[in-house]
Amino acid sequence: MNTFSHAVVNGDLIPYEQATISLAHPVFLTSYGVYESIQVDHGHPFCLKGHLRRLAASAAALSIDLPSQKTLFRWAHRLIAALPAETYALQILVFGETSGSPLLVAFLPKPLPRYASDLYENGAAAITFAGERALPQCKSLNTLVNHLARTEARRQDALEAILVSDGFLLEGARSNVFVVDAAGHLLTPPAEKTLGGITKEVLIAEMSETPYSVQESDVPIDVPLREMFITSTSMHVMPITRLDGKPVGDGRVGEITKKAAARFETFYRAAIRKSLE
Ligand code: PMP
Repeated sequence: MNTFSHAVVNGDLIPYEQATISLAHPVFLTSYGVYESIQVDHGHPFCLKGHLRRLAASAAALSIDLPSQKTLFRWAHRLIAALPAETYALQILVFGETSGSPLLVAFLPKPLPRYASDLYENGAAAITFAGERALPQCKSLNTLVNHLARTEARRQDALEAILVSDGFLLEGARSNVFVVDAAGHLLTPPAEKTLGGITKEVLIAEMSETPYSVQESDVPIDVPLREMFITSTSMHVMPITRLDGKPVGDGRVGEITKKAAARFETFYRAAIRKSLE
């Protein structure tokens, strides 16, 4: 059996190939839906409850009625139990109910993107991209801005595009952004303008136990920076050492970034270990 042998659709475990929808489905034209992507590590999901809570909040923003958290938790584990204990991304897709199309909640295994160790050691390049997502706190299926931003990043050989609006950094196309300013403060753009990243949430809690507590604050694009990093489910903490072709700070991975990455990885390993007990 391979990792992608099954999916769970509206609670039913079915062969992966049968998890399909019609081209006539209204979601293709409305983006009326929400999604999640959860890291499963050797069969153990990281922060599943946090992801399900965010899914519920995203759904509520679109007035989509979801099954209970308990039911969604059971459906996730129905799929995980049917798959080998491997490492993959568990994607949840929710298509809102419209006339003629009932609510659809699908759990699908997907390959987890992998990033070269060199990027973690020496830092990655990012670009800025003018744009913002509709309903920034909602992880909706309306991902056109993310797509355009990532396409431009790839064109410029960068790993990520940081969305910028009115001269302020917002978030990455698929990540949250943190910077260290010239005074040594660790900052992240305000929650109401960004997705509440699960990785970001863990990191804010972890860094509050160090001398480098995270402050939510508007970050102008032209503010001198010492360090920058991005966070996401698949990347964890990724240092950014070049922005729009220029070095960030001295162009090397900074000490606060290293500390953040180490704190996150310790938390991550402990959480996975705990779910093994
Ligand atoms: N912002 C956006 C726009 C994203 O797509 C993601 C990826 N889900 C994130 C931030 C990071 O969130 P998380 O840490 O939950 O993966």
